[in-house]
Amino acid sequence: MEHTLMKLPYSYKALEPFMSEETLTFHYGKHHAGYVAKLNALIKETEYAEMPLVKIIKKAKGPIFNNAAQVFNHDFFWCGLLNEESAPSVELSDSIETQYGSMDAFEKAFIDAGVSLFGSGWVWLTIDQENVLRIEQTSNAENPITSHRVPLLVCDVWEHAYYLDHRNARAEYLLNWWKLVNWKFVSDNLAEQKEKRSYYFIHECNENTEVCDYMTDLEEAERVSS
Ligand code: FE
Repeated sequence: MEHTLMKLPYSYKALEPFMSEETLTFHYGKHHAGYVAKLNALIKETEYAEMPLVKIIKKAKGPIFNNAAQVFNHDFFWCGLLNEESAPSVELSDSIETQYGSMDAFEKAFIDAGVSLFGSGWVWLTIDQENVLRIEQTSNAENPITSHRVPLLVCDVWEHAYYLDHRNARAEYLLNWWKLVNWKFVSDNLAEQKEKRSYYFIHECNENTEVCDYMTDLEEAERVSS
């Protein structure tokens, strides 16, 4: 199975002035595309050759895991951005306020987690089986799916995500990124998770990706068997 680079749900210029066209072009067109190409090359004629992306992430180690997870993480990252005003659902803001006290406190905690992450990695908002929200830092390509938690939102804090726009000022990048968060995406991910109580997420925004194809198949299989 050939893994494909997801189609961006907006233009290269769409996230300006918070994320430049140059950053988006390089990040998506070189880095993200590079992970897809590398993954396809690595899995050729291996047991992973016909495996959906999430299954590879759960099973593989080393370079195959790293490239598969980076494809997933970037798909999720792009789907979580939108340069239009959006607001969290009542369900999401209630959950965040219960867990963190207020949206402002949550924002601060999330951005602090991004600033304090050592080296390259990702900051996530996740939910577990008991519907507990967590802000999680993962290093390199690591992904909370391997720890049975469902991602709701992610921020890429690899240097390639911000160096062209902000040089080494990661905090400045995080504050700009925060203005682009697509709260409908996050809210929908939460609603799906609470409703289905699965370990996965589905959202129309990433319907062109391998991730979404796999999730859809999985949900359909669960529906048929229940
Ligand atoms: Fe990246």
